[in-house]
Amino acid sequence: MSTIQFINLYKQYLSIADEIDIAIRNVLRSGNFIMGKNVGEFEKQIASYCGSKYAVGVASGTDALLLSLLALGIKDGDEVITTPFTFIASANTIVRAGGKPVFIDVDEETFNINISEIESKITSKTKAIVLVHLFGYPMDMFKVIDIAQKHNLYIIEDAAQAIGAKINQRSVGSFGDTAAISFFPSKNLGAYGDGGIVLTDNDGIRDQIDLLRHHGAKNKYYHEIIGVNSRLDEIQAAILRVKLKYLDAWNNSRRERAKLYTSTLKNSKLILPIEKTGVFHTYHQFTIRVLSGRDELKSFLFNQGIDTKIYYPHPLHLQPAFQYLGYRSGDFPVAEKLCTQVLSLPCYPELSILDQEKICQAIITYLDKNYSHPQ
Ligand SMILES: *Cc1c(COP(=O)(O)O)cnc(C)c1O
Repeated sequence: MSTIQFINLYKQYLSIADEIDIAIRNVLRSGNFIMGKNVGEFEKQIASYCGSKYAVGVASGTDALLLSLLALGIKDGDEVITTPFTFIASANTIVRAGGKPVFIDVDEETFNINISEIESKITSKTKAIVLVHLFGYPMDMFKVIDIAQKHNLYIIEDAAQAIGAKINQRSVGSFGDTAAISFFPSKNLGAYGDGGIVLTDNDGIRDQIDLLRHHGAKNKYYHEIIGVNSRLDEIQAAILRVKLKYLDAWNNSRRERAKLYTSTLKNSKLILPIEKTGVFHTYHQFTIRVLSGRDELKSFLFNQGIDTKIYYPHPLHLQPAFQYLGYRSGDFPVAEKLCTQVLSLPCYPELSILDQEKICQAIITYLDKNYSHPQ
């Protein structure tokens, strides 16, 4: 049983319990649970927060990606470029839309796709790029947009982990043709269940996603296209309206936790996250690299009562689900190496400074005793 948890959602709830309880009770008393005023209000608020024209609430971040791909017309083996170092949803939604994921390797400093490798993978079948702002580190969107415009590709931002992250002061989610945000409970803006949103500036795409989420019906029981049932519900929207007010403060506390880790661990033998010029990282994860012995460090910390996580232990191109694509071990050496080196440390607003100091001390103690990897 660890005494320092990886994340503690109950502590966060306690800090805003009165407001949350009232918001939920108001929905219960309204008797209106699907597509009521909370969803509409929240869509407006989050679109404005992210600097987008429209937001369309859906059932999850995964559905936000899937409906984006469908609305952009991805189908029949269309190729979509993405990263192998991410959560499965960034790529399995491409397949569910009918497309084919084409992976490219990642950059070992930012963990995001290596932009300089995009062009070499573009073919006549390439229709879109799904970019992931992994762990809250924003991609260099200006460079990506140049490439996408040159080759006439759609951009879908998988901003599931990155709400509030910015590049040159501009929010992620506002760059792509669409962006997907997840409200999975442990995300920086988490609901108390599943939820997601699609952001877009395009009226046609907004309308198409609205149609898709309601079984393809604009008017009830008259179905223009084949759609799905994928809506953000009123209770989650009411909760998210309360939590959105705290998001900037919470993201800033994550940044403070990250700063403390960085200053305390900077002379240790670890590789720590960086922030390039113009980058505002929101540290959904604070992910270090342990050049050798990552699993031993993880068990040592666990035995000291400190919980850590590995995001991600397996790259997507080597997952059984994607075996049919024909990739092999060695195809994406950086992603494969990162899977053996990364370790995410507890980094959330409710983590006390005292606990954080304990984590740092335990890491330093371990490295002093056990680590002799040449730099
Ligand atoms: C969480 C996550 C998703 C999926 O979001 P859900 O709301 O869990 O469906 C997609 N992509 C990335 C990178 C994620 O971290």
